[in-house]
Formats: sequence, structure tokens, C-alpha cells
Amino acid sequence: MDEVHGQVRAGRQAAWWLYLAAGAAVIVVYLLITADVRHLFSPLVSASATVAIVVAVFRKRPRPAAPWYLFAAGMALYTAADSLFGIYQVEGTAVPFPSPADALYLAAYPFFTAGLIALTTVQNRGLGWAGLLDAGIITLGATTLAWVFIIGPYLFSQLSALPLTVSLAYTLVDLVLLCMAARLVLTTGTRTPSFLLMTAWLCATLGADGLYYSTLATTGAPIAPEVSYAVWMASYLFLGAAALHPSLGRTPRLVEGGQAALSGPRLVLLILLALMGPVLLIVDAGHVRDRPAHVGIISAIVGCLTLLLVLRVTLLARYAQGQAAQARTRTQALERSLRDQTSLQKQLSHQAFHDPLTGLANRALLAERLEHVLSRPSAVGTTGLILIDLDRFKDINDSLGHPVGDEVLIAVAHRLLGGVRQQDTVARLGGDEFAVLVEDLPSDGVRDYAQRLLGRFKDPFALSGERSVYVAASIGIVAIRELMPPSEALRDADLALYVAKDQGRNRAVMFEPSMSTAQQDQSRIAQDLRYALTRNELSVYYQPVVEMDTGETTGVEALLRWRPRGRDPIQPEQFIPIAEETDLILPIGAWILREACLQGRRWHDQTPDRRALTIAVNVSGRQLKDPDFPETVTRTLLETGFPASSLVVEITENVLIADAETTTAHISSLRGLGVRISIDDFGTGYSSLSYLRNLPVDIVKIDQSFVNTAAAKDNGIIQAILYLSRALGVDTVAEGIETSAQADRLRTLGCPHGQGFYYAEPMSAQALEEHLAAHPVPELRHPTG
Ligand code: C2E
Ligand code: MG
Ligand code: MG
Repeated sequence: MDEVHGQVRAGRQAAWWLYLAAGAAVIVVYLLITADVRHLFSPLVSASATVAIVVAVFRKRPRPAAPWYLFAAGMALYTAADSLFGIYQVEGTAVPFPSPADALYLAAYPFFTAGLIALTTVQNRGLGWAGLLDAGIITLGATTLAWVFIIGPYLFSQLSALPLTVSLAYTLVDLVLLCMAARLVLTTGTRTPSFLLMTAWLCATLGADGLYYSTLATTGAPIAPEVSYAVWMASYLFLGAAALHPSLGRTPRLVEGGQAALSGPRLVLLILLALMGPVLLIVDAGHVRDRPAHVGIISAIVGCLTLLLVLRVTLLARYAQGQAAQARTRTQALERSLRDQTSLQKQLSHQAFHDPLTGLANRALLAERLEHVLSRPSAVGTTGLILIDLDRFKDINDSLGHPVGDEVLIAVAHRLLGGVRQQDTVARLGGDEFAVLVEDLPSDGVRDYAQRLLGRFKDPFALSGERSVYVAASIGIVAIRELMPPSEALRDADLALYVAKDQGRNRAVMFEPSMSTAQQDQSRIAQDLRYALTRNELSVYYQPVVEMDTGETTGVEALLRWRPRGRDPIQPEQFIPIAEETDLILPIGAWILREACLQGRRWHDQTPDRRALTIAVNVSGRQLKDPDFPETVTRTLLETGFPASSLVVEITENVLIADAETTTAHISSLRGLGVRISIDDFGTGYSSLSYLRNLPVDIVKIDQSFVNTAAAKDNGIIQAILYLSRALGVDTVAEGIETSAQADRLRTLGCPHGQGFYYAEPMSAQALEEHLAAHPVPELRHPTG
């Protein structure tokens, strides 16, 4: 396809060259031959130009095409006129003046002029006043010259009316054509070869006309007419070539920057033209000063020209004002978009480094500040990092909803900001975790500082709707050490925070190197615990629960024991929390429940006396929350055949209260089976006796911290628990009885059941069997956990 196009283009180019070369050859031949046959050449060239235009327009369909049809029409009239001249020449008759050929020539001009107007108007899409004014000035300048050298001499010659009129008509149509030609050239920007050839046509036509008629008018006969004829022929050739050239189809663009702009050269040209009249008058060209009418006419033309020039300058001024206004608007728009961009950039960088909820710095910004601070040697001993984690924030989210949780976080952020100094950074690291980076404090001052921050949590946080909540926090502190990388600072503060949580929350703990080792131990425990079940490292110990009055064993508590391969046994208090965190408590819990039930079933089966023996199994919060928990218990009871009424599930008080909704549902379904529920470690959690009334429990286990002290205050608490339990029909077990004195005291206070080293330590199933043989179980009387 491209190839075909290329061939067509090459063909057109060749035709163009051929046409130009042939035309040029004709003109050269004409110039070489005697003047007598000149009129035979001219029609040849004009006819070829006419044909060239028609062919080109049909082939290339330029847009607009109308100007070219008009040019073709003009050129056809020229051909006709030239042919008439040719006929005269062949006949050997002198050409009269005027002749029908003159009518044909003159008739061609309106077509040319109309063609130019059509071409310019299409391109300007309107009148284009500036271009029109410039063209007018040029034409008036030329008119001055024409007056002096053509019109004036004609008027004062001896010509009769008709020749005079025809001669003047030539000048007039030339001036009109000049005006339109100037307008076209001045308002069109692109210079395609076709356009340049068209300009050459106009210049040649007007030039030849000027030369021919000015010499004719001033001397009575044209000087070197063959030159004019040659130039005329060249002008035809130019128009034909303009039409044939491949660039014809391309529409020329307008002058860049609008036509009202005035370039330096053009301004000089216009001024020179304006000065033309006065100069001609001063040098008295063609003796114009001899005739006052001349002077008057020239002055009038100069006056008109000056007026046009003033109008032109006014247009220029308006254009300049418009340009200035546009520039101002553009500058303003630019300034605005710059401002917008700056603020957007600020917003983006703020978003990248701030927490959207609280507006505090985020983890990234804290890390950056930390890095910056730690890179200064002066930071050692004067900088501290404080990590703050809200206690039981999840409960707030769960019970009051996330919007309230968000409100609390915002309130906490405000309170923290109120408690720090200007130079400190408060950040929210995510969830309910905050951090404060403090600088320029003695390292022991960091602890006091953190303590003060903790103090800010004493008062309740006011929320919308006149609500308020108490939120406590745990704090981990680290003082910056020499060459400490930021990640280490964060890790140490996190360890300290972990310890603060572990020690019971609502406290600030300073990092100590031993915490790192403890942490490592914990990681190892978590690692080993994964294999504890499959490697048979777990076992169950049983601790008797006795009736205080008789000392008879009424039940046992199943307690988990773990001896990792090749290591010392690890205490439940050490590994149970890790098992809870890692969810390993779910399989382990299911395992011990099954073990205990199987063992219980065995004991029940061995001796009918032992049918009353109950087994209490500890269940952690994580297990209780598990949706499958009630199902696990039901299945275990079914599979082991252990009666539900002999099973006691021990749950710590905190678990019961923290996740009231799920736990209550699960507890209810367990109780529905006949399983009894015991509150373990009663008194250590929220310690509100009033809870007893609402909780769905059967047994209360008084925590050993009340039991193995001699404080009178604890006696009071025990008495209160016993009183309330009796009133509510709830059984009571005192835990951790170690001495006979403690046993006596509890018996006197009226506690029905007890458990502790004084009676028996936790022991293996085997050992318990021997123990039971020595301490018989009472007949099915009053089963207790
Ligand atoms: P707990 O349920 O309150 O269990 C009683 C703990 O007190 C047992 O510690 C027991 O050995 C100890 N104890 C009994 N009598 C005395 C005494 O006279 N003096 C002192 N000082 N201590 C006494 P152990 O076995 O170390 O268990 C600790 C905790 O670990 C248990 O407290 C329970 O919360 C948890 N735990 C133990 N086994 C399991 C289990 O299978 N599942 C779950 N979820 N937790 C368990
Ligand atoms: Mg227990
Ligand atoms: Mg306990």
C-alpha cells in the first residue's frame, strides 16, 4: 500500500518538474526568438496553466476547491485573450487598443480576486481585520506610486475616453488584486511550495503589469515589452505549477500568535509605505508638485494611509492588552496550580507519616525520628522510648462497638499529647498501641516521665453521649544505650511492655537485659510445646479436694504436667499462657479433658464407692470462646462414658466477665448437660461479690492468696464469700491450704471444702489410687470439685 502511494507521489513530482521545465523552455525559446511571434507563445503557456489547474483540482480535490476553479476560470479568460492576440499576430494586423482581448484580460481579474478572497476567508474563518488593514496600507502605499507613475500620467495624457478608461481599469484591478494578495500572504503562516508558487504568480503578474503600464503611461510606449511578456508567461507557469505541486492539498496555517501581532519587518514596511507619499512629494517624482490636483490626491491618500496606520496600531495595542491579560490569567492559573500541588504534596506526606484516626505520628514517622535521634551521640542516656498498650481494649470494642473504641483511641491520643513536652513525639503504632519518644531527659528521668503518663489514665475518658469509660494502660520503657539500632530499641520496649502486661497490667516497667533471656525462653517453650502431645510429654496429676469436716476426698482437680524430653519439668503457670497465645491450648485442653474423663470412668468402675468422686478440669478462656467447645465436651463425655454430673469445669473469674456473651452461652449449654461450673481463683479478678449473683456457677474456689495469710481483713473477705455463696446455694472450695492452722480457721469460718498441700499435693493417677485407698470417698452424698 505504502509502495503504491510512494509511486503515485513520485509520478506527481515528475509531472510537476516536467511541466515547469517545459514552461521554462517555452519562455526561454520565446526570449531567444524575434518579437514578431511572441503572441503565439503566450496562449500556449496560459492554456497549459488552465489545463494544469483543472487537472490538479480534479485529481487532488484541494479543500477549498472553489478558489482554484476561480483561478482556472481567470486563466481560461487569459488564454482566450492571449489567443486573440495570437490571431492578430498571425493575421499580421496591428492590435488595436482597446480590443476585445482587453475585455477578456480585465474580466479575468475579478475571478483571480474572488479566488484570493475565498482562499483567505476560509483560512481566517472571518474577516481578519488586522490582515485587512495591513493589506489596505500596502495597497494605499502602492496607490501613491501608481498615482505618480501611472494614473497621473494617464490622466494628463492625450488619450481619448475609452483607451483612458481601459488603461485606468487595468491599474484599478491590479490594485484590488494587490490588496487581496497582500492580505493572503500576510495572514497565512505555512509556506508550502504550492503557496510560494502562488505568491510568485501574484508578484510576477503585478510586477509585469506595473512595469508595462508605468512605462507605457510615462513614455507613451512600454519599455522592453518582451520582458513584461516573459514575466507574464512566467506568472502563468507559476500558477499552473502551484496547482500541480503535490503540496496543493495541504491547507496553509494562519500566522502564529494571531494576525494582530506585528513583526518588526512588517512594521518597517508599513511605515515605509506610509512615508511613500511625502517622499514622492519631497523629491517631486514625476513632477507631481507641478499640479496641485496631484498634491491634493497624494495628500488624501497619505491621510487615509495614516488613518489606517492609526487603526492598525490601535488594534495592536488591543492585541497587546489581550495578550497581557491572557499572560496574567495564565500566571494566576499557574500560581494556583503550584499552590494546589504544594498543598497536595503536604497532604500526601502528612498522610504517609500520620495516623488517620488520631492524627498522631505513625510507625513510619516514629521510626524515622528514632533513627534520627539515635544517630546523635548525645542521645545516649538522655533519650527514652515508651510503648503504651491499653489494657483490655478489645473488651471495649467488643462490648461497646468499634465507633466507641475509636472515640476512646482519639481521647487517649489527646490525653497523651497533653502529657508530653513540645519536643517529644507521640505516635500510634496501630490498634491500641501508642509510643512516646522522649529526648533530653536523664535516663532515670524516663521512668518518672512514663509514670506520669500512666497517671493520666486515672480519670475516666469522656465520650460522646455523656458516656465515659475507664481505660488503664501498660507501659514498657527503654532507655537508649550506646550504638543501639532503632529496631532494638523498639524490641526492648516491647519486651518491657510484655512484662508489664504479664505482671498484671496497669503499670510501667523499665526494660532490663534479663527480659531478653526470658523472652528467648518463652520462644523456646512455644517451639517445644508444639511437639509435647505427639511426644507424650504431657501427663495429668490429680489433687484431692476434701470435705473439711471429715477430711474425706470428695473430688480431684486435674492439673497438667509437662516434662519436655531431656529437660526439667515446666510449670503450668509458665507454659499455659504460651499455649493460650499460640492456640495450642485447644488440642491440649481437649486432650486433658479426655484423659481426666477416662481416668474418672476407670475409678468409678473400679470401686462402686467412688461413684461420688468428681473431677475438676481447668478450662482456659481461649477454650471457652472456641465455638466447638460445648461439642467437644459433649463428645468426650459420650465417648468416655463419664457422667456429666461428675465433671466440674473450672474457669477463672476474669474469663467469665471479660467475654460475657459467648462464655455465658457456652456455660449454659454445659450446665444443660449436667456439668457443673466452678469459678477458679475467686477474688483475684474484678473481685466484686455482686458478680456472684449474676454468674451461672455452681462452685466458688476461694483463691489461695486469701487462704494462706493470717490477715484479719482476709478473714472478712472469706466470710463474705461464704455468706453470699450459702445464700445463693453455691458450693465453696478453699484453695491452697498448707497448714493445719489454715484448715482450722477455714473450718471455723464454715468453709465446706478445701484443697491444698496440707491435705495432699497433686499426684499421678497411680499415686492417687493409693491415696484414695487410704482416704475413702464418702458415699454418693455431696459431690464437689
Ligand atoms: P489452679 O487451677 O488454681 O490450680 C491450683 C494450683 O495450686 C495448682 O498449681 C496446684 O499445684 C497449686 N496448689 C495446690 N495446693 C497448693 C498449696 O497448698 N499451696 C500452693 N502454693 N499451691 C497449691 P499448678 O498445678 O502449678 O497449676 C497452676 C495453674 O495452672 C492452675 O491454677 C491452672 O490455672 C493452670 N492449669 C493447670 N492445669 C491446667 C489445665 O489442664 N488447663 C488449664 N487451662 N489450666 C491449667
Ligand atoms: Mg483450678
Ligand atoms: Mg486456683
